[in-house]
Order: sequence, then C-alpha cells, then structure tokens
Amino acid sequence: MSEDSVGIVGAGVHGVAAAYHLARRGVPTVVFERGTRAGGPTGRASGVVRSYYTNRFLAEVARDSTAVLADFAAQVGGDSGFVRTGGLYLHGADDIDDVRKTGADHEVLTPADLAARFPDLNLDGTAIGVWEERAGHADPHGTALGYAAAAERHGATLLEHAEVVKITDDGRRVVVLLGDGTRHEVGRLLVAAGPWTGPLLAQVGAALPLTAERHVVAGLIHQPDDVPLAVPYVLIDVQRGYYSRPSGADRFLLGPLAPATPTDPDDFATDVTAAEIDWLATRAAQRTPVRGRAVADRGWASLYDVSPDWQPVTGQVSDRVYVDAGTSGHGFKLAPVWGDHVARLLAGDPDPRLEQFSPGRFAAGSALASGFGAARILG
Ligand SMILES: Cc1cc2nc3c(=O)[nH]c(=O)nc-3n(C[C@H](O)[C@H](O)[C@H](O)COP(=O)(O)OP(=O)(O)OC[C@H]3O[C@@H](n4cnc5c(N)ncnc54)[C@H](O)[C@@H]3O)c2cc1C
Repeated sequence: MSEDSVGIVGAGVHGVAAAYHLARRGVPTVVFERGTRAGGPTGRASGVVRSYYTNRFLAEVARDSTAVLADFAAQVGGDSGFVRTGGLYLHGADDIDDVRKTGADHEVLTPADLAARFPDLNLDGTAIGVWEERAGHADPHGTALGYAAAAERHGATLLEHAEVVKITDDGRRVVVLLGDGTRHEVGRLLVAAGPWTGPLLAQVGAALPLTAERHVVAGLIHQPDDVPLAVPYVLIDVQRGYYSRPSGADRFLLGPLAPATPTDPDDFATDVTAAEIDWLATRAAQRTPVRGRAVADRGWASLYDVSPDWQPVTGQVSDRVYVDAGTSGHGFKLAPVWGDHVARLLAGDPDPRLEQFSPGRFAAGSALASGFGAARILG
C-alpha cells in the first residue's frame, strides 16, 4: 500500500468510526479484525448515551456524537438505534461542588426539585441531581455495523478473521503480519484493539499502563402490572453505585459504576452471576421500589479496557504507530466524533485539545481527572 495508507487493528466501534472518517477523506484504509466486526466489547456495551462529563472536551465530543447518533441514517447510514429518553444523575453530598460545575450545561436539581419532578423515587440521602434532556441509549452493535459499511462504501477494506500477530515500525512504513502468515505494509498504523492493545504496542517499544476489567450488565423484566410504572429514562445513581437504562417497555438493564479488579482478557466469565444480579437489583429497588418486583432476564459480562485515569488514550506511540484505546467503559457514545479526531491526528492536523489524552501523560505525571469519587466511569 502507499505511503499515505493507514492500517487499523480492531473493528470495534472506535476502529470502524476512524476507518470511516479516514476513508471519506480519501485515505487508503485497511482494517484488520481477528474476529468479526463489532464482535468484541463494542457488541456487549449497554449503549448509554450522555454528555454529562467532567472533562470539557469529552462533554463536547459526547454532545456532538449524540447528534450524529440521533441522525445516523442520514449522516452515516444504517441504524444506530438511538432513543432519546433524558437522563437523571443522583449524587450524595460529597459531590455538590463538582456537580454544580459539571451540571451547568444541564439542569441542576435540588432535593426539593427532585421530589417534585420524580415523586416515585426514594430520594433518601440524595443531595443534588442533574437532568440531561438529550441523553438516551443506542445500539452499539448496529452503530458499529453502520460505520463499517459506510467505511467500505468510501473505499476502505475490512478484513475479518485477520489477527495481527506482529507489527514492526521501521520508520519508513509499518509491516503488519497476520496469523495466517500474510504480510501487509501500511504508511501508518492505528491500534484500536480494546483490551488487547497493550501487548501489540509493546512490540514497537511502547509500554502503556492499560488493564482489562470484567464488568456485567444485568437485564431485568417487570411484572406485567408494573410496566406502566417503569422508569422511562436513563438513571445514573452515583450515590448508590449503579446505572440503568430502559430496554423496551418492560425491561431494563443495570450495571455497576465502580472499578473492578483487573482480569485476563482471554480468560474471564462471560455470564453474570446470581450474586452480581442481586447486588445491582437490591440497589435499584432501594431507589425505585417497583424494580424490587422485577425478575432477572438476560445478562452478560464483557471487558472494559481501562487506563489509570479512566480517560481515553489516544495519540502517537512511535514514528508511524498510533493508539486509540483505554476508553474505560464509556467510549461507545464518544466514537462518532472521536473517530474524526483520530482521522485528523493521523493526517498530522490534530485538534490541540486531543493532546491531553496522549499516551505519554502517565509517565509525565499529567493524568486527567474523571468522574465523581469511585464513579470514574462518568469521565
Ligand atoms: C459491559 C459493557 C458496557 C458498556 N456500556 C457502555 C455504555 O453504556 N456507554 C458507552 O459509551 N460505553 C460503554 N461501554 C464501553 C464501550 O463498549 C467501549 O468504550 C467501546 O466499545 C470501545 O470500542 P473499541 O473499538 O475501542 O474496542 P473494542 O470494542 O474492544 O474492539 C477491539 C477489537 O479489536 C479486535 N482485536 C483485538 N486484538 C486484535 C488483533 N491482534 N488483531 C486483530 N483484531 C484484534 C477485537 O477482536 C475487537 O473486535 C461498555 C463496555 C462494556 C464491556
């Protein structure tokens, strides 16, 4: 391939969104995916879409990405599954000052406001809340398929069942060796391999402190008589340590907000256990008693690729190799606009605000702030 060509390792939503933005700029692009498109953590994400971020740049990226997800068929093609529900964030007293800053783009609610607006919620101990009108949920699998197809329409090549086993950056080009012995040469390489990114980058001498964490999603289904009382919006209960989103009229999904211990990304339990469901369901029922009568439905576990500050790791790691990983459980809804920033980075014209996410920040002692207390996943 030519000097200006780009190879991408990984067809998760970040890899295919970057491929789309590169291909539509006319850059010859090839994506290497060891499984199938969106077959990794992207396809297991909960799909919560929100722009309530403590990091100003990410708040803007999330806001603009939400607009793309809401108009996906026209702007990209395919079905993102976006449903605008609004989002409610509930915090304890420790977060009051930070919430007043972060919530300024949204509606900050006192306990009295919350009680008047959300009479069905048990608000014990809640000191402050935020309502985000444009939040909702989308389908990460469908979104990634849409980006992959759009990238292909713009001329990108997507190779599935193509595992990258060795990368070599000789300063003039990057040589990519696949598991079947095939050899590819590209001008630059983007590694967007989620939890498997670290070992690939080590091959070009970059030691990034990324870890993999197993996180669960528990699905619950309401009793038929309770369906009219179902919570119709995204609820991020920072105070009690879980998030929830509706999934159709009678179901909802729950997941934890706190970090977990690192795990081996090639050897972890993909089912949610009864104890994990119980932990989440108990907290949800304390907040919304109707949820206490719901029963466990489908659930699963997958992987977050986590950076030390729970913010994305995006930048250059060697002469011709770049990384976009470390999205720490909150990267799906950023991908539409982040992919454009990655394409600009590879074109040598990055937005200066991207620099704060550079892989070198940890060694330089410039880790970023993120989230609220243990809920660093809020970014
Ligand atoms: C349970 C769960 C819930 C989540 N909920 C949300 C949410 O509600 N909202 C939100 O915004 N985000 C959420 N996320 C986070 C979101 O899913 C991720 O931030 C995002 O999907 C990361 O996309 P990615 O493309 O960087 O990586 P991935 O989806 O991990 O894709 C990486 C790809 O690289 C491939 N690969 C790896 N190694 C190689 C190799 N050597 N050669 C070729 N291919 C390789 C893999 O097969 C994989 O397909 C959630 C994640 C999980 C696990």
